[in-house]
Amino acid sequence: MSKARESIVVMKFGGTSVEDAKAMRRTASIVQGRRDRGLRAVVVVSAMARVTDQLLASAAAAGRGDRPGALAIAARLRNRHIETAAELVSGDRVHRLQTALDQEFDALDDLLRGIAAVGELTPRTNDLVVSFGERLSSRMVAEAFDELGLNGTQVDARTCIITDANYGKAAPQEDAIERQLLALVLPLVEAGKTPVMGGFIGSTAEGITTTLGRGGSDYTAALVGGGLHAGAIEIWTDVNGIMTTDPRICPDALRVKTISFEEAAELAYFGAKVLHPATILPAVQKSIPVWVLNSRNPENEGTRITAIAPRCVSPFKSIAAKKKLTIIDIVASRMLMSHGYLKAVFDVFDKYQCIIDMVSTSEVSISVSVDSNQRLPEICAELSKIADVKMEGHKALVCLVGEDIRGQHGIAAQVFAAVRHVNVRMISQGASEINMSFMIDEDDVDEAVKSLHAAFFANPDPNIFDVAARPAVTH
Ligand code: ASP
Ligand code: MG
Repeated sequence: MSKARESIVVMKFGGTSVEDAKAMRRTASIVQGRRDRGLRAVVVVSAMARVTDQLLASAAAAGRGDRPGALAIAARLRNRHIETAAELVSGDRVHRLQTALDQEFDALDDLLRGIAAVGELTPRTNDLVVSFGERLSSRMVAEAFDELGLNGTQVDARTCIITDANYGKAAPQEDAIERQLLALVLPLVEAGKTPVMGGFIGSTAEGITTTLGRGGSDYTAALVGGGLHAGAIEIWTDVNGIMTTDPRICPDALRVKTISFEEAAELAYFGAKVLHPATILPAVQKSIPVWVLNSRNPENEGTRITAIAPRCVSPFKSIAAKKKLTIIDIVASRMLMSHGYLKAVFDVFDKYQCIIDMVSTSEVSISVSVDSNQRLPEICAELSKIADVKMEGHKALVCLVGEDIRGQHGIAAQVFAAVRHVNVRMISQGASEINMSFMIDEDDVDEAVKSLHAAFFANPDPNIFDVAARPAVTH
Protein backbone atom coordinates (compact mmCIF):
# COMPACT_ATOMS: atom_id res chain seq x y z
CA MET A 1 0.00 0.00 0.00
CA SER A 2 3.02 2.29 -0.07
CA LYS A 3 1.84 3.71 -3.38
CA ALA A 4 -1.63 4.52 -2.02
CA ARG A 5 -2.78 8.07 -2.58
CA GLU A 6 -5.42 8.24 0.13
CA SER A 7 -6.48 11.78 -0.66
CA ILE A 8 -7.46 10.98 -4.26
CA VAL A 9 -11.10 10.09 -4.77
CA VAL A 10 -12.40 8.95 -8.14
CA MET A 11 -15.99 10.16 -8.53
CA LYS A 12 -18.11 8.63 -11.29
CA PHE A 13 -21.38 10.26 -12.29
CA GLY A 14 -23.83 8.20 -14.35
CA GLY A 15 -26.08 9.39 -17.17
CA THR A 16 -28.90 10.64 -14.95
CA SER A 17 -26.37 12.56 -12.81
CA VAL A 18 -25.36 14.58 -15.91
CA GLU A 19 -28.69 14.53 -17.76
CA ASP A 20 -29.07 18.34 -17.94
CA ALA A 21 -27.46 21.58 -16.81
CA LYS A 22 -29.04 21.37 -13.39
CA ALA A 23 -27.75 17.84 -12.81
CA MET A 24 -24.27 18.82 -14.03
CA ARG A 25 -24.19 21.72 -11.57
CA ARG A 26 -25.29 19.37 -8.81
CA THR A 27 -22.26 17.18 -9.58
CA ALA A 28 -20.10 20.29 -9.20
CA SER A 29 -21.42 20.94 -5.71
CA ILE A 30 -20.84 17.29 -4.77
CA VAL A 31 -17.25 17.52 -6.00
CA GLN A 32 -16.82 20.81 -4.13
CA GLY A 33 -17.95 19.00 -0.98
CA ARG A 34 -15.11 16.51 -1.40
CA ARG A 35 -12.58 19.27 -2.03
CA ASP A 36 -13.78 20.97 1.15
CA ARG A 37 -12.81 17.82 3.01
CA GLY A 38 -9.30 18.09 1.62
CA LEU A 39 -9.80 15.37 -0.98
CA ARG A 40 -8.58 15.58 -4.56
CA ALA A 41 -11.19 14.48 -7.08
CA VAL A 42 -10.77 12.79 -10.43
CA VAL A 43 -14.15 12.76 -12.17
CA VAL A 44 -15.47 10.16 -14.62
CA VAL A 45 -18.76 10.88 -16.39
CA SER A 46 -21.18 8.90 -18.50
CA ALA A 47 -22.84 10.37 -21.55
CA MET A 48 -25.93 12.45 -20.76
CA ALA A 49 -28.91 10.18 -20.05
CA ARG A 50 -30.16 8.25 -23.11
CA VAL A 51 -27.47 9.65 -25.42
CA THR A 52 -25.67 6.32 -25.83
CA ASP A 53 -28.88 4.64 -27.01
CA GLN A 54 -29.52 7.45 -29.47
CA LEU A 55 -25.99 7.34 -30.86
CA LEU A 56 -26.33 3.60 -31.36
CA ALA A 57 -29.62 4.17 -33.15
CA SER A 58 -28.03 6.76 -35.44
CA ALA A 59 -25.13 4.43 -36.23
CA ALA A 60 -27.56 1.62 -37.00
CA ALA A 61 -29.64 3.87 -39.26
CA ALA A 62 -26.52 4.95 -41.14
CA GLY A 63 -25.46 1.31 -41.43
CA ARG A 64 -28.80 0.55 -43.13
CA GLY A 65 -28.08 3.35 -45.57
CA ASP A 66 -30.72 5.59 -43.93
CA ARG A 67 -28.73 8.82 -44.08
CA PRO A 68 -31.60 11.23 -43.28
CA GLY A 69 -32.64 9.08 -40.32
CA ALA A 70 -29.12 8.99 -38.93
CA LEU A 71 -28.59 12.73 -39.37
CA ALA A 72 -31.97 13.55 -37.82
CA ILE A 73 -30.98 11.77 -34.61
CA ALA A 74 -27.63 13.54 -34.60
CA ALA A 75 -29.37 16.91 -35.10
CA ARG A 76 -31.58 16.31 -32.06
CA LEU A 77 -28.53 15.39 -30.01
CA ARG A 78 -26.75 18.52 -31.21
CA ASN A 79 -29.66 20.72 -30.10
CA ARG A 80 -29.84 19.11 -26.70
CA HIS A 81 -26.11 19.59 -26.06
CA ILE A 82 -26.02 23.14 -27.41
CA GLU A 83 -29.03 24.15 -25.31
CA THR A 84 -27.60 22.53 -22.22
CA ALA A 85 -24.34 24.42 -22.77
CA ALA A 86 -26.21 27.74 -22.86
CA GLU A 87 -27.86 26.95 -19.56
CA LEU A 88 -24.75 25.50 -17.97
CA VAL A 89 -22.12 28.23 -18.31
CA SER A 90 -22.16 31.96 -18.84
CA GLY A 91 -20.33 34.81 -20.61
CA ASP A 92 -17.67 33.97 -23.18
CA ARG A 93 -17.72 30.39 -22.12
CA VAL A 94 -21.07 29.74 -23.75
CA HIS A 95 -19.74 30.58 -27.18
CA ARG A 96 -16.48 28.73 -26.62
CA LEU A 97 -18.20 25.59 -25.40
CA GLN A 98 -20.85 25.67 -28.12
CA THR A 99 -18.19 26.08 -30.81
CA ALA A 100 -16.32 23.08 -29.44
CA LEU A 101 -19.53 21.02 -29.33
CA ASP A 102 -20.46 22.10 -32.87
CA GLN A 103 -17.09 20.92 -34.13
CA GLU A 104 -17.66 17.52 -32.54
CA PHE A 105 -21.14 17.28 -34.03
CA ASP A 106 -19.81 18.25 -37.48
CA ALA A 107 -17.36 15.37 -37.18
CA LEU A 108 -20.18 13.06 -36.09
CA ASP A 109 -22.29 14.08 -39.09
CA ASP A 110 -19.37 13.41 -41.44
CA LEU A 111 -18.88 10.03 -39.89
CA LEU A 112 -22.57 9.11 -40.22
CA ARG A 113 -22.60 10.25 -43.86
CA GLY A 114 -19.59 8.05 -44.50
CA ILE A 115 -21.24 5.03 -42.89
CA ALA A 116 -24.45 5.64 -44.83
CA ALA A 117 -22.52 5.95 -48.11
CA VAL A 118 -20.87 2.59 -47.55
CA GLY A 119 -24.04 1.13 -46.06
CA GLU A 120 -22.06 -0.96 -43.63
CA LEU A 121 -21.47 -0.48 -39.93
CA THR A 122 -18.44 -2.29 -38.50
CA PRO A 123 -18.00 -2.80 -34.74
CA ARG A 124 -14.99 -0.50 -34.92
CA THR A 125 -16.98 2.35 -36.49
CA ASN A 126 -19.86 1.73 -34.12
CA ASP A 127 -17.48 2.31 -31.20
CA LEU A 128 -16.28 5.54 -32.76
CA VAL A 129 -19.86 6.83 -33.14
CA VAL A 130 -20.91 5.90 -29.62
CA SER A 131 -17.74 7.43 -28.11
CA PHE A 132 -19.11 10.90 -28.87
CA GLY A 133 -21.50 10.66 -25.91
CA GLU A 134 -18.82 10.61 -23.24
CA ARG A 135 -16.51 12.94 -25.16
CA LEU A 136 -19.25 15.57 -25.24
CA SER A 137 -20.46 15.18 -21.65
CA SER A 138 -16.93 15.30 -20.23
CA ARG A 139 -16.20 18.45 -22.21
CA MET A 140 -19.30 20.15 -20.82
CA VAL A 141 -18.77 19.06 -17.24
CA ALA A 142 -15.12 20.13 -17.34
CA GLU A 143 -16.14 23.58 -18.58
CA ALA A 144 -18.76 23.93 -15.84
CA PHE A 145 -16.28 22.80 -13.20
CA ASP A 146 -13.84 25.40 -14.39
CA GLU A 147 -16.41 28.18 -14.23
CA LEU A 148 -17.50 27.11 -10.78
CA GLY A 149 -14.00 27.33 -9.34
CA LEU A 150 -13.13 23.62 -9.34
CA ASN A 151 -10.31 23.99 -11.88
CA GLY A 152 -12.02 21.51 -14.15
CA THR A 153 -10.03 20.23 -17.10
CA GLN A 154 -11.07 17.65 -19.66
CA VAL A 155 -8.88 14.63 -20.24
CA ASP A 156 -9.65 12.56 -23.33
CA ALA A 157 -10.17 9.15 -21.74
CA ARG A 158 -8.87 7.53 -24.88
CA THR A 159 -5.36 8.72 -24.06
CA CYS A 160 -5.44 6.79 -20.76
CA ILE A 161 -7.75 3.81 -21.05
CA ILE A 162 -5.68 1.55 -23.31
CA THR A 163 -7.48 -1.61 -24.43
CA ASP A 164 -7.26 -4.48 -26.86
CA ALA A 165 -9.10 -4.22 -30.18
CA ASN A 166 -12.20 -6.19 -29.17
CA TYR A 167 -14.63 -3.49 -30.28
CA GLY A 168 -17.82 -3.18 -28.30
CA LYS A 169 -16.32 -4.91 -25.28
CA ALA A 170 -12.64 -4.13 -25.26
CA ALA A 171 -10.42 -5.51 -22.50
CA PRO A 172 -8.43 -2.87 -20.63
CA GLN A 173 -4.68 -3.24 -20.32
CA GLU A 174 -4.06 -2.24 -16.77
CA ASP A 175 -0.29 -1.75 -16.89
CA ALA A 176 -0.52 0.60 -19.85
CA ILE A 177 -3.45 2.40 -18.23
CA GLU A 178 -1.56 2.95 -15.01
CA ARG A 179 1.39 4.33 -16.95
CA GLN A 180 -0.80 6.77 -18.85
CA LEU A 181 -2.70 7.89 -15.75
CA LEU A 182 0.50 8.60 -13.88
CA ALA A 183 1.87 10.53 -16.84
CA LEU A 184 -1.25 12.48 -17.82
CA VAL A 185 -3.71 12.66 -14.93
CA LEU A 186 -1.63 12.63 -11.75
CA PRO A 187 0.26 15.83 -12.67
CA LEU A 188 -3.08 17.62 -13.13
CA VAL A 189 -4.27 16.44 -9.73
CA GLU A 190 -1.01 17.57 -8.19
CA ALA A 191 -1.46 20.98 -9.79
CA GLY A 192 -4.83 21.34 -8.01
CA LYS A 193 -6.96 20.65 -11.06
CA THR A 194 -10.05 18.45 -11.29
CA PRO A 195 -9.57 16.15 -14.29
CA VAL A 196 -12.85 15.18 -15.96
CA MET A 197 -12.86 12.21 -18.26
CA GLY A 198 -15.53 10.27 -20.11
CA GLY A 199 -16.20 6.75 -18.92
CA PHE A 200 -16.83 3.77 -21.18
CA ILE A 201 -14.39 4.75 -23.94
CA GLY A 202 -10.80 3.83 -24.58
CA SER A 203 -8.41 3.22 -27.40
CA THR A 204 -6.00 0.60 -28.63
CA ALA A 205 -2.27 1.19 -28.30
CA GLU A 206 -2.46 2.35 -31.94
CA GLY A 207 -5.04 5.00 -31.06
CA ILE A 208 -8.19 3.37 -32.48
CA THR A 209 -11.28 4.22 -30.40
CA THR A 210 -12.86 1.36 -28.44
CA THR A 211 -15.56 0.93 -25.78
CA LEU A 212 -15.66 -1.25 -22.68
CA GLY A 213 -19.26 -2.49 -23.11
CA ARG A 214 -22.59 -1.02 -22.00
CA GLY A 215 -22.51 0.42 -18.52
CA GLY A 216 -18.73 0.61 -18.85
CA SER A 217 -18.28 3.93 -17.06
CA ASP A 218 -18.19 2.21 -13.68
CA TYR A 219 -15.41 0.07 -15.09
CA THR A 220 -13.52 3.20 -16.15
CA ALA A 221 -13.87 4.58 -12.64
CA ALA A 222 -12.45 1.39 -11.12
CA LEU A 223 -9.59 1.37 -13.63
CA VAL A 224 -8.76 5.00 -12.92
CA GLY A 225 -9.00 4.46 -9.17
CA GLY A 226 -6.86 1.33 -9.44
CA GLY A 227 -4.25 2.95 -11.68
CA LEU A 228 -3.92 6.02 -9.48
CA HIS A 229 -4.03 3.92 -6.26
CA ALA A 230 -6.80 6.19 -5.07
CA GLY A 231 -8.17 6.12 -1.54
CA ALA A 232 -11.75 5.56 -2.66
CA ILE A 233 -14.01 5.26 -5.67
CA GLU A 234 -17.47 6.79 -5.56
CA ILE A 235 -20.15 5.67 -7.99
CA TRP A 236 -22.76 8.45 -8.00
CA THR A 237 -26.07 7.24 -9.29
CA ASP A 238 -29.76 7.88 -8.65
CA VAL A 239 -30.46 5.40 -5.86
CA ASN A 240 -29.45 5.45 -2.20
CA GLY A 241 -27.08 2.52 -2.65
CA ILE A 242 -27.61 -1.21 -2.58
CA MET A 243 -30.90 -2.17 -0.95
CA THR A 244 -32.00 -5.36 0.79
CA THR A 245 -34.31 -5.84 -2.18
CA ASP A 246 -36.15 -3.87 -4.86
CA PRO A 247 -38.13 -1.17 -2.98
CA ARG A 248 -40.80 -1.30 -5.69
CA ILE A 249 -41.59 -4.81 -4.50
CA CYS A 250 -40.94 -4.25 -0.78
CA PRO A 251 -41.46 -0.66 0.37
CA ASP A 252 -39.71 -1.56 3.63
CA ALA A 253 -36.47 -2.51 1.87
CA LEU A 254 -33.43 -1.17 3.71
CA ARG A 255 -30.23 0.38 2.52
CA VAL A 256 -27.27 -1.95 3.00
CA LYS A 257 -24.52 0.11 4.62
CA THR A 258 -21.63 -2.26 3.93
CA ILE A 259 -21.33 -5.17 1.56
CA SER A 260 -18.39 -7.20 0.31
CA PHE A 261 -17.13 -7.08 -3.26
CA GLU A 262 -18.08 -10.70 -3.71
CA GLU A 263 -21.62 -10.12 -2.51
CA ALA A 264 -22.05 -7.02 -4.66
CA ALA A 265 -20.78 -8.87 -7.71
CA GLU A 266 -23.22 -11.76 -7.17
CA LEU A 267 -26.06 -9.30 -6.79
CA ALA A 268 -25.15 -7.38 -9.90
CA TYR A 269 -25.09 -10.56 -11.89
CA PHE A 270 -28.51 -11.54 -10.61
CA GLY A 271 -30.17 -8.36 -11.69
CA ALA A 272 -29.59 -5.75 -8.99
CA LYS A 273 -28.72 -3.07 -11.51
CA VAL A 274 -26.68 -0.79 -9.30
CA LEU A 275 -23.25 -2.03 -10.38
CA HIS A 276 -21.82 -4.17 -13.10
CA PRO A 277 -19.85 -7.02 -11.45
CA ALA A 278 -16.64 -7.08 -13.45
CA THR A 279 -16.40 -3.34 -13.21
CA ILE A 280 -15.24 -3.24 -9.67
CA LEU A 281 -12.53 -5.87 -10.03
CA PRO A 282 -9.65 -3.46 -10.63
CA ALA A 283 -10.61 -1.82 -7.34
CA VAL A 284 -11.06 -5.11 -5.46
CA GLN A 285 -7.62 -6.28 -6.41
CA LYS A 286 -6.10 -3.17 -4.89
CA SER A 287 -8.43 -3.16 -1.85
CA ILE A 288 -9.82 0.24 -2.73
CA PRO A 289 -13.28 0.73 -1.21
CA VAL A 290 -16.08 1.56 -3.64
CA TRP A 291 -19.07 3.62 -2.52
CA VAL A 292 -22.43 3.71 -4.25
CA LEU A 293 -24.04 7.10 -3.64
CA ASN A 294 -27.10 9.08 -4.72
CA SER A 295 -26.43 12.36 -6.50
CA ARG A 296 -30.03 13.45 -5.85
CA ASN A 297 -29.57 12.82 -2.15
CA PRO A 298 -25.86 13.44 -1.53
CA GLU A 299 -26.21 13.52 2.26
CA ASN A 300 -27.21 9.87 2.25
CA GLU A 301 -24.29 7.65 3.23
CA GLY A 302 -24.83 5.13 0.42
CA THR A 303 -23.35 1.66 0.37
CA ARG A 304 -19.73 0.90 1.01
CA ILE A 305 -18.32 -2.04 -0.92
CA THR A 306 -15.19 -3.49 0.65
CA ALA A 307 -12.91 -6.45 0.05
CA ILE A 308 -13.92 -8.12 3.30
CA ALA A 309 -17.40 -7.79 4.75
CA PRO A 310 -17.79 -7.13 8.46
CA ARG A 311 -19.70 -9.84 10.31
CA CYS A 312 -23.43 -9.61 10.03
CA VAL A 313 -26.01 -11.22 12.26
CA SER A 314 -28.48 -11.72 9.40
CA PRO A 315 -27.47 -14.50 6.98
CA PHE A 316 -28.32 -12.48 3.85
CA LYS A 317 -27.49 -8.98 2.68
CA SER A 318 -29.90 -8.75 -0.20
CA ILE A 319 -32.45 -10.52 -2.35
CA ALA A 320 -32.39 -10.03 -6.13
CA ALA A 321 -34.61 -11.37 -8.86
CA LYS A 322 -33.78 -11.78 -12.51
CA LYS A 323 -36.70 -12.15 -14.90
CA LYS A 324 -37.04 -13.09 -18.58
CA LEU A 325 -35.40 -16.47 -18.24
CA THR A 326 -36.12 -19.72 -20.03
CA ILE A 327 -35.59 -23.22 -18.71
CA ILE A 328 -34.49 -25.85 -21.19
CA ASP A 329 -34.91 -29.46 -20.13
CA ILE A 330 -32.66 -31.78 -22.05
CA VAL A 331 -33.45 -35.46 -21.62
CA ALA A 332 -31.06 -38.04 -23.00
CA SER A 333 -33.47 -40.23 -24.89
CA ARG A 334 -31.79 -43.50 -25.82
CA MET A 335 -28.30 -43.36 -24.50
CA LEU A 336 -28.04 -42.43 -20.88
CA MET A 337 -25.59 -39.70 -20.28
CA SER A 338 -22.45 -41.13 -21.70
CA HIS A 339 -18.93 -39.87 -21.80
CA GLY A 340 -18.78 -36.63 -23.80
CA TYR A 341 -22.52 -36.05 -23.59
CA LEU A 342 -22.40 -33.01 -21.34
CA LYS A 343 -19.71 -31.53 -23.50
CA ALA A 344 -21.83 -32.04 -26.62
CA VAL A 345 -24.74 -30.27 -24.93
CA PHE A 346 -22.71 -27.32 -23.69
CA ASP A 347 -20.94 -26.99 -27.04
CA VAL A 348 -24.30 -26.10 -28.56
CA PHE A 349 -24.80 -23.24 -26.08
CA ASP A 350 -21.25 -22.16 -26.68
CA LYS A 351 -21.71 -22.11 -30.43
CA TYR A 352 -24.59 -19.65 -30.05
CA GLN A 353 -22.72 -17.67 -27.38
CA CYS A 354 -25.61 -18.28 -25.04
CA ILE A 355 -24.85 -17.62 -21.39
CA ILE A 356 -26.19 -20.18 -18.93
CA ASP A 357 -27.44 -18.93 -15.57
CA MET A 358 -28.06 -22.19 -13.79
CA VAL A 359 -27.59 -25.90 -14.40
CA SER A 360 -28.95 -28.95 -12.67
CA THR A 361 -28.44 -32.54 -13.74
CA SER A 362 -29.79 -35.94 -12.88
CA GLU A 363 -29.04 -39.41 -14.23
CA VAL A 364 -30.87 -38.81 -17.50
CA SER A 365 -31.62 -35.12 -17.77
CA ILE A 366 -30.02 -31.72 -17.69
CA SER A 367 -31.94 -28.55 -16.98
CA VAL A 368 -30.36 -25.25 -17.82
CA SER A 369 -31.69 -21.76 -17.50
CA VAL A 370 -30.72 -19.07 -19.94
CA ASP A 371 -31.70 -15.49 -20.71
CA SER A 372 -34.66 -15.58 -23.08
CA ASN A 373 -33.41 -14.63 -26.54
CA GLN A 374 -34.30 -15.05 -30.18
CA ARG A 375 -31.77 -17.77 -30.82
CA LEU A 376 -33.32 -20.27 -28.42
CA PRO A 377 -35.38 -22.04 -31.11
CA GLU A 378 -32.17 -22.64 -33.12
CA ILE A 379 -30.40 -23.88 -30.02
CA CYS A 380 -33.26 -26.26 -29.23
CA ALA A 381 -33.35 -27.54 -32.80
CA GLU A 382 -29.70 -28.37 -32.62
CA LEU A 383 -30.00 -30.00 -29.19
CA SER A 384 -32.89 -32.11 -30.51
CA LYS A 385 -30.36 -34.07 -32.56
CA ILE A 386 -28.92 -35.54 -29.37
CA ALA A 387 -31.80 -35.38 -26.88
CA ASP A 388 -35.46 -34.70 -26.20
CA VAL A 389 -35.74 -31.00 -25.57
CA LYS A 390 -38.43 -28.97 -23.84
CA MET A 391 -38.40 -25.20 -23.44
CA GLU A 392 -40.35 -23.19 -20.86
CA GLY A 393 -40.27 -19.40 -20.84
CA HIS A 394 -41.36 -16.66 -18.40
CA LYS A 395 -39.17 -17.91 -15.60
CA ALA A 396 -37.33 -15.90 -12.99
CA LEU A 397 -34.37 -16.52 -10.75
CA VAL A 398 -34.57 -15.40 -7.17
CA CYS A 399 -31.22 -15.07 -5.51
CA LEU A 400 -30.30 -14.49 -1.88
CA VAL A 401 -26.78 -13.29 -1.26
CA GLY A 402 -24.78 -13.18 1.94
CA GLU A 403 -21.32 -14.24 3.05
CA ASP A 404 -22.68 -15.27 6.40
CA ILE A 405 -24.46 -18.30 4.96
CA ARG A 406 -21.05 -19.98 4.55
CA GLY A 407 -21.03 -23.08 6.65
CA GLN A 408 -24.34 -22.28 8.34
CA HIS A 409 -26.75 -25.17 8.58
CA GLY A 410 -30.47 -25.01 8.10
CA ILE A 411 -30.53 -21.85 5.98
CA ALA A 412 -31.92 -23.67 2.95
CA ALA A 413 -34.74 -25.06 5.07
CA GLN A 414 -35.61 -21.54 6.27
CA VAL A 415 -35.58 -20.20 2.71
CA PHE A 416 -37.86 -22.88 1.36
CA ALA A 417 -40.17 -22.66 4.34
CA ALA A 418 -40.60 -18.96 3.52
CA VAL A 419 -41.63 -19.74 -0.06
CA ARG A 420 -43.42 -23.05 0.54
CA HIS A 421 -46.52 -21.77 -1.29
CA VAL A 422 -44.52 -21.05 -4.48
CA ASN A 423 -43.71 -23.65 -7.09
CA VAL A 424 -39.90 -23.93 -7.23
CA ARG A 425 -38.46 -25.35 -10.46
CA MET A 426 -34.68 -25.48 -10.02
CA ILE A 427 -32.44 -24.91 -7.03
CA SER A 428 -28.79 -24.12 -6.78
CA GLN A 429 -26.37 -23.07 -4.18
CA GLY A 430 -23.61 -21.40 -6.15
CA ALA A 431 -20.07 -22.68 -5.89
CA SER A 432 -19.27 -19.31 -4.38
CA GLU A 433 -21.22 -20.47 -1.30
CA ILE A 434 -22.53 -16.98 -0.81
CA ASN A 435 -25.68 -17.20 -2.86
CA MET A 436 -28.72 -19.41 -2.81
CA SER A 437 -30.92 -19.22 -5.84
CA PHE A 438 -33.97 -20.88 -7.22
CA MET A 439 -36.12 -20.65 -10.30
CA ILE A 440 -39.83 -19.84 -10.26
CA ASP A 441 -42.51 -18.50 -12.59
CA GLU A 442 -42.16 -14.79 -13.34
CA ASP A 443 -45.64 -14.22 -11.95
CA ASP A 444 -44.58 -15.51 -8.53
CA VAL A 445 -41.60 -13.17 -8.10
CA ASP A 446 -43.27 -10.42 -6.06
CA GLU A 447 -44.89 -12.91 -3.72
CA ALA A 448 -41.66 -14.86 -3.19
CA VAL A 449 -39.52 -11.78 -2.65
CA LYS A 450 -41.99 -10.31 -0.15
CA SER A 451 -42.13 -13.54 1.84
CA LEU A 452 -38.35 -13.91 1.90
CA HIS A 453 -37.82 -10.29 2.85
CA ALA A 454 -40.28 -10.59 5.70
CA ALA A 455 -38.59 -13.78 6.89
CA PHE A 456 -34.97 -12.60 6.76
CA PHE A 457 -35.13 -8.86 7.39
CA ALA A 458 -37.56 -8.70 10.28
CA ASN A 459 -34.72 -7.99 12.75
CA PRO A 460 -31.96 -6.46 10.65
CA ASP A 461 -28.45 -5.98 12.04
CA PRO A 462 -28.17 -2.21 12.67
CA ASN A 463 -24.43 -2.26 11.93
CA ILE A 464 -25.05 -3.46 8.42
CA PHE A 465 -28.47 -2.09 7.47
CA ASP A 466 -29.85 1.44 7.70
CA VAL A 467 -32.51 0.55 10.22
CA ALA A 468 -33.10 4.18 11.18
CA ALA A 469 -34.48 4.94 7.72
CA ARG A 470 -36.95 2.05 7.71
CA PRO A 471 -40.35 3.44 6.80
CA ALA A 472 -43.01 2.93 9.46
CA VAL A 473 -44.96 -0.19 8.58
CA THR A 474 -48.67 0.50 8.34
CA HIS A 475 -51.01 -2.29 9.26
N1 ASP B 1 -22.90 5.61 -21.61
C1 ASP B 1 -22.59 4.21 -21.57
C2 ASP B 1 -23.89 3.39 -21.54
O1 ASP B 1 -24.96 3.96 -21.52
C3 ASP B 1 -21.70 3.83 -20.45
C4 ASP B 1 -22.22 4.13 -19.07
O2 ASP B 1 -23.09 4.97 -18.90
O3 ASP B 1 -21.74 3.50 -18.13
O4 ASP B 1 -23.82 2.20 -21.58
MG1 MG C 1 -24.45 2.58 -15.23
